[in-house]
Amino acid sequence: MPQVRCALCRRSSLGESVLSTTRDADRVDAELQKAAATPLRETSESERRGFYREHGVLLCDGTSLESVAEAVGTPAYLYSVGEIQAQYARLSAALSGVPHRIHYSVKANSNLAILGILRALGSGVDIVSGGEMYRAQSAGFKGRDIVFSGVGKTEREMTEALTLGVLMINVESEEELARWDEVAGRMGRKAAVALRVNPEVMVDTPHPYTRTGVKGMKFGIPFDETLVVARRALGMKNISLIGLDMHVGSQISQFEPYEIGLGRLLQLKNEITEAGATELEYLDIGGGLAVSYDEEHPVDVEGFGAVVERLVGPTGLKVIVEPGRYLVGNAGVLLTRVLYRKRSGGKQFVIVDAGMNDLIRPSHYNAYHRIEAVRPSGGKITADIVGPVCESGDFLGLHRDVDDAKPGDLIAVRSAGAYGFVMASNYNSRPRISEVLIERGRFGVVTEREQYSDLVRKERLEPEWKKVT
Ligand code: PLP
Repeated sequence: MPQVRCALCRRSSLGESVLSTTRDADRVDAELQKAAATPLRETSESERRGFYREHGVLLCDGTSLESVAEAVGTPAYLYSVGEIQAQYARLSAALSGVPHRIHYSVKANSNLAILGILRALGSGVDIVSGGEMYRAQSAGFKGRDIVFSGVGKTEREMTEALTLGVLMINVESEEELARWDEVAGRMGRKAAVALRVNPEVMVDTPHPYTRTGVKGMKFGIPFDETLVVARRALGMKNISLIGLDMHVGSQISQFEPYEIGLGRLLQLKNEITEAGATELEYLDIGGGLAVSYDEEHPVDVEGFGAVVERLVGPTGLKVIVEPGRYLVGNAGVLLTRVLYRKRSGGKQFVIVDAGMNDLIRPSHYNAYHRIEAVRPSGGKITADIVGPVCESGDFLGLHRDVDDAKPGDLIAVRSAGAYGFVMASNYNSRPRISEVLIERGRFGVVTEREQYSDLVRKERLEPEWKKVT
């Protein structure tokens, strides 16, 4: 079918907010009129991938968001299969100069269907809990596809990981290392570990909570203690020291933190080799690659790949990367409907049916998500976009220039594919919402919306009292 795509739509896909000034509203009208008058041309496959506009209306992978909302209700998370595939292909190509494997960081979006898409692309996974291990297995990943990270692994999780034969365990402290030795010994196995080093690099992330590789954080082994811990590991009967690992933080768009961190890891690799290590095979350089939420630049992955190739190429080590957000962040929206409009204290409020329990990032990280009407009316307002949760911190955006959306209108909260649904809760006894995959003109529900009965399914009106012995 012939399609047109106006300049306004391209602005949207470049990460700029649609309708962000009054002049934009006029431009919408002009663009829409022009679009209507322009001879239709075919929209290319890549233009129709992910979220984009046609005739001013927001679509995904050739599919009408309005139709999906009609079918599955709101709020709902919608994910573009094409966008995930494209991001994966781009990163994999960028790293083609070194032996590497992408281990998708399950915490970003752990839906089974998302895991299935990534597995089909050849990805492994990075997990941080027994629950994520279970999900990974349920999606068809084998032990060799799994890297096990996390600062507080329990004995149960250790036993499960060793039984499954995970590829590598990222160990975060000397005490944890000793525990692995003990558990593996008891099971008659060897634990293949990498030491997670805190490279102590200051990174410029949008929020302090997304920094992990800075001195004094709970993550990783302090840089200047790693050699001592490595020597200990080399002397342990049930431990194979096969790698070094770092994760400097999240939403990082510069190469410098990676360059500095990698330099430190490679220095350690030489020292550990001198200390007698013979099995070092992997360099896990973590995740953290940035996407564009607004006008900020996403990471230049090709440049990132070049840095990795220059530094790691000569060592012959295999590179592991653990991206989460980069693969799924821009592949998702939270689709919500306007319930009410209201004025208070000289401010305008747009009250929508999604709340902080569905998407906590704005409230928790002060994160910015573009908020756009699916079918803009052309008018615009400055407003707080808030949810129904009984908290003043329940907002999706504050003091925002947005479309003048009326009750019943659909709103898309953009770039919500990572750290969205996975951080959702039932706060205010709100059932968790559905997740939907969209692919080339079709859609499918991959998480059913919870019912009220789900809210109390694990609860008891009366406990089964037990006597303390
Ligand atoms: N690896 C580790 C150890 C992490 O802690 C995280 C995120 O917190 C990631 C990978 C994924 O980070 P991102 O989604 O920013 O790529």
